[in-house]
Amino acid sequence: MEGIDFGSAEHRKVVIIGTGPAGLTAAIYSARANFAPLVIQGPEPGGQLITTTDVENYPGFPDGIMGPDMMQMFEKQAERFGAELRWGTVTSVDLSQRPFKLIVDEETPVTADTVIVSTGASAMYLGLENESRLLGHGVSACATCDGAFFREQNVAIVGGGDTAMEEALFLTRFASKIFLIHRRGEFRASKIMQDRVLSHEKIEVLWNTTVEDIRGDKLVEGLVIKDVNTGEVRDLDVEGFFVAIGHTPNTDLFKDFLDMDETGYIQTQSDSTYTNIEGVFACGDAQDHIYRQAVTAAGTGCMAAIDAERWLADQEA
Ligand code: NDP
Repeated sequence: MEGIDFGSAEHRKVVIIGTGPAGLTAAIYSARANFAPLVIQGPEPGGQLITTTDVENYPGFPDGIMGPDMMQMFEKQAERFGAELRWGTVTSVDLSQRPFKLIVDEETPVTADTVIVSTGASAMYLGLENESRLLGHGVSACATCDGAFFREQNVAIVGGGDTAMEEALFLTRFASKIFLIHRRGEFRASKIMQDRVLSHEKIEVLWNTTVEDIRGDKLVEGLVIKDVNTGEVRDLDVEGFFVAIGHTPNTDLFKDFLDMDETGYIQTQSDSTYTNIEGVFACGDAQDHIYRQAVTAAGTGCMAAIDAERWLADQEA
């Protein structure tokens, strides 16, 4: 915060940080309550759905909808009622007193009576040295973004949740063969997604298998994998490697102020989006490690806007 002059900072009653389904739903509600909220988009505008293909489980879209298209509709709806969506990332916050202080892109000060945190979650990686080195050179955490680079090639994907299933199925559009590597003998993904994967001729599941290393100098050339039951280690020749092992909440920014669980999910009161700081509300994947769905994120975004509105009304009463 040093060196930034907050004297002439732009002030808003409601500032929303993050633009996934939670943040944009909060924006729609808050805008319709006439707060003209400022919505700071963050490093991944639109959130995780931007990297998703067909969303088949969001009510109201019986034929499914593409994730990016859906997020554009959310944005349009928020702007229609006066929400201001702004490019930029909140790089520091001071939530120790009101008005709350925020700095956007390390230089622009903003103050707020209420802050709605909807910063979502990001993909996790295995933590292998070659994984980070070859990221973008055959290693990816987003099949939707990078799958098309692997036309007629062999690829592998690691994970056993719905993301891994969805991404493996997406990769069947391009790759000639997909090895789905899972560390256990059963998936945690929903039954319908498992069934689709298990019946797909292009997908071969390698159960009870871990990825020990990634081979390749400038590009991925293969994996070193291990059978956890037998201890056997072998090479698997693939040109692409996708990581789909879950997510971590984007909440580092708030760690000095907001109560979180041991994995960094912001703790909210059980029946609301109130955090431990009055006037700061949290919604979406930043505070939900259980459901993590677009529709539940949107639901908690709506709750956060209503909670903020009522809290502001109480302050003014
Ligand atoms: P999950 O946490 O559900 O699954 C992560 C998977 O990665 C697990 O199978 C886990 O194995 C495995 N894993 C975790 N860490 C490692 C590691 N270090 N090495 C190897 N494997 C590892 O995450 P998802 O991203 O798949 O899903 C998150 C949530 O989003 C879920 O609730 C899911 O249902 C939902 N979702 C829904 C979709 C839809 O409905 N269309 C699409 C995508 C996600 P293990 O099982 O052994 O723990």
